[in-house]
Amino acid sequence: MIYQKCDCWYCLHEHRQIILTFEMNGERQFWVDIPKNASQSIKERWKMNEKPSIVPRLLYKDLDCKPLAVYRDPMSRFVSLLNHYLTYSGPYGRFLKGISALADIGVDAEKISLEERVSYFMGCLPKLSGFHQVHHFYPQTYWIPKEFQEYTWVPMNKVSEVFDTENTTPGSGKITKDMLTETQKDFVFSEYKDDYDYFKNML
Ligand SMILES: [Zn+2]
Repeated sequence: MIYQKCDCWYCLHEHRQIILTFEMNGERQFWVDIPKNASQSIKERWKMNEKPSIVPRLLYKDLDCKPLAVYRDPMSRFVSLLNHYLTYSGPYGRFLKGISALADIGVDAEKISLEERVSYFMGCLPKLSGFHQVHHFYPQTYWIPKEFQEYTWVPMNKVSEVFDTENTTPGSGKITKDMLTETQKDFVFSEYKDDYDYFKNML
């Protein structure tokens, strides 16, 4: 992985590879929180930010379940991240962090094209730190708790159905996959190879 070890608040508090729990239609559900895979929508829908929902890791071995987990095409996930960090899309704070990463190398994002933003920003990826919440860029497979062998995998386009969330429209940002150069796409294929391998029969 080219990315730095993230030392943001979230990561320092062991909020990694975690299982959360909530009740849906009278049934206890277990769910793996994978950033950028409808994570916020699911948390908000089931109010997991408001009440205790983290299953202590010590209990994992006693859980007899196949936790729910959302997966996503790695390229579309990466492009969505570019949109969050480089355009007014998604949580506003991420845009500020993306723009500040460019400012650190002397680039004024307001004065260049979107393609140039992407190009400069991709050059900054190894420098992103906990301040930028670099963990968002980690591959999906990084987030899978190793204690479980099996998951109930849910594709992004089934999230609203399975989790009863609002319909979202992934891939609606200004930066699109078609704007990436072949070299940039190759970076995604190689950096997220574990994800492509893991999900190969599901994508
Ligand atoms: Zn982090």
